[in-house]
Amino acid sequence: MIQLSEERCTKCGARLLVNADFCLNCGASLKPRVVSRKERTGFVTAAGVLMIFASCLSAVNGIVAFIISFVLLTYHGGFHLADPAGYGALRFGVLAIVSSGMGLTAGVLSFKRKQFGFVVSSAALLLITSVWQFFADPFPGGLSGFLARAILPLSLLSLILASYKKREFISARAHLNHKD
Ligand SMILES: [Zn+2]
Repeated sequence: MIQLSEERCTKCGARLLVNADFCLNCGASLKPRVVSRKERTGFVTAAGVLMIFASCLSAVNGIVAFIISFVLLTYHGGFHLADPAGYGALRFGVLAIVSSGMGLTAGVLSFKRKQFGFVVSSAALLLITSVWQFFADPFPGGLSGFLARAILPLSLLSLILASYKKREFISARAHLNHKD
């Protein structure tokens, strides 16, 4: 029995048959074809969920770092270059917010099985940010230190899960081959 899959031809947009090697409408080759929804496992979705969770914690971390830097820099007589702790917190805040934004985007991309490179880079950045915090945190026992300890395993696990199921991501090559 002929069965239509949920995937569409990227060249003409026609619905494709399940496990089709080429598009019946325009004849475009689909090899190496994209992984169909049926072949998807929960690993990459789990990676996305973990990354979004870690990103939310990282956002809190960034906001806390901004508040700390503001207090340190203003307490010591305004924005003064001689205050390494204040600028350290400010730098960390920027990094935490950037990795949070990338992580949130990467989480959504994981659900769509898109842009493997960006997904693993974002997970790696979240991981680096949490590791850096262990060395740079002026208040290691505080909320930020606690959050960093949570972000580290979450981002590491999402990095491993996404890498383990790399083949589920839609490859750039699959799109190129559709153009023939
Ligand atoms: Zn087509």
